[in-house]
Amino acid sequence: MKQNIRSLKFSDFEKIIEKIEEPRYRARQIYRWLWKKNVRSFHEMKNISKRCREYLINNFTITHAKISTQIKSKDGTIKFLFCLDDGSKCEGVLIPEKNRVTACISSQVGCSFACKFCATGSMKRKRNIMSYEIFDQVSLMMDKSFKEYNMGITNIVYMGMGEPLVNYQNVVDSINYLTSKEALNMSSKRITVSTVGVSKMIKKLADEKLKVNLAVSLHSANNLKRSEIMDINNSNDLGKLKDSLIYFYNKTKIKITYEYVLLNDFNDNIKDAQELIQFSKIVPSKINLIEFNNVENSKFKKSTNKKTIEFISILKKENIVVNLRRSRGEDVDAACGQLANKI
Ligand code: SAH
Repeated sequence: MKQNIRSLKFSDFEKIIEKIEEPRYRARQIYRWLWKKNVRSFHEMKNISKRCREYLINNFTITHAKISTQIKSKDGTIKFLFCLDDGSKCEGVLIPEKNRVTACISSQVGCSFACKFCATGSMKRKRNIMSYEIFDQVSLMMDKSFKEYNMGITNIVYMGMGEPLVNYQNVVDSINYLTSKEALNMSSKRITVSTVGVSKMIKKLADEKLKVNLAVSLHSANNLKRSEIMDINNSNDLGKLKDSLIYFYNKTKIKITYEYVLLNDFNDNIKDAQELIQFSKIVPSKINLIEFNNVENSKFKKSTNKKTIEFISILKKENIVVNLRRSRGEDVDAACGQLANKI
């Protein structure tokens, strides 16, 4: 069976080129055709010798993820369902705002973390998404972004389905494709990896050269409450999380973003806000309060407007940087896991 050429590393290209006795610079040329020009066939690799192209055609394939469904919301948000090579489905979302377009991408088909308020959490993990499939989500949405909003994607968030830090190598490789000069050349400052808070992997990420932003899905700064909604907190509690965040900040000097979904009568009272304030002072950070996107059969509801405003004002009094992320694309099931769950 032919191998998918996009699963190879640059060093693998070098070995192939050496084996078939082509000039060394071919490896870089092939890499560029794949990752900068994003070609669909070997025939398009115009500066590659016919002999080399034939070798590639006989031994490798080039496959790409495809868009299976796309739905545009009244607010301009577009939700995508992508079809991967083996027929697996994952989601992506394009979110237009003034002067920027954010692409939200998936790192796993399903998820093993089963957070109680999350639609993907009810799905079980099917498989990791490969680095090139993560890249494809961006490149497919990039084309759409130009067509729909007259501008390309400016920001990328790993906030779709799955937990990026347990599909670590594919996520790191995909970030390299997105940021390398030989590929998409995006700034790592505009890329955010969002995690349930796997401490060991947060430390590992801190040691990389990548310099991407880190968002931590906190949702409660109280161990008992957090364990109730996020299983991970039983083995990886707030103490461990704190240690890894200190490590991350000391190594990278990048401010952490905490995500906090406001759940009615669960994590939205004054004491919750005070605990969040204490936690957020551990390292320089900001807080994104997220409106809960209703999930079918969920016991949770979104916080009331009144309590949301109160919660924000308590944080602001302490000079905490806080943003309220209003729900986008509700009419197209844009919250994590909602579309794939229905199809
Ligand atoms: N596993 C990673 C990334 C995927 S979830 C993580 O946990 O961060 C991306 C974000 O969406 C997380 O902050 C998650 O808590 C949030 N989220 C999940 N379900 C949601 C819902 N129903 N409404 C609002 N936000 C939700």
